[in-house]
Amino acid sequence: MEPRSDEEWRVILSPEQYSVTRKGGTESPFTGSLLNNKEQGTYKCVCCGLSLFSSEDKYDSGSGWPSFVRPISSNAVFEKKDISHGMNRTEVICPHCEAHLGHVFQDGPDPTGLRYCINSVSLNFYSLKKE
Ligand code: FE
Repeated sequence: MEPRSDEEWRVILSPEQYSVTRKGGTESPFTGSLLNNKEQGTYKCVCCGLSLFSSEDKYDSGSGWPSFVRPISSNAVFEKKDISHGMNRTEVICPHCEAHLGHVFQDGPDPTGLRYCINSVSLNFYSLKKE
């Protein structure tokens, strides 16, 4: 996609979406609108609409953020070392628009052992159910 400027993102996104996706922020735990969503469907990037996660891979990690065992396909997200805040973490990024989505940790359940810990505000949910 055509890269958008910081100013464009600021106009297009809500303040919370902007601070999380463009500035690497984190929504408060247990506040996200998609945390307890159990509907079947696809989670897409709130900035660019790329499909990132499937409801089939979502689970309740107890962490307070929507959690997935894997992305929707093997190259659906970009992962990058993040040593900010004195922690050694792996950041999860949209490969299309570089939105910050969350982090991936190695304390997830089978079959991957991974926990993609993703901010609700980084995602739009598209239900498979006909409304
Ligand atoms: Fe994106």
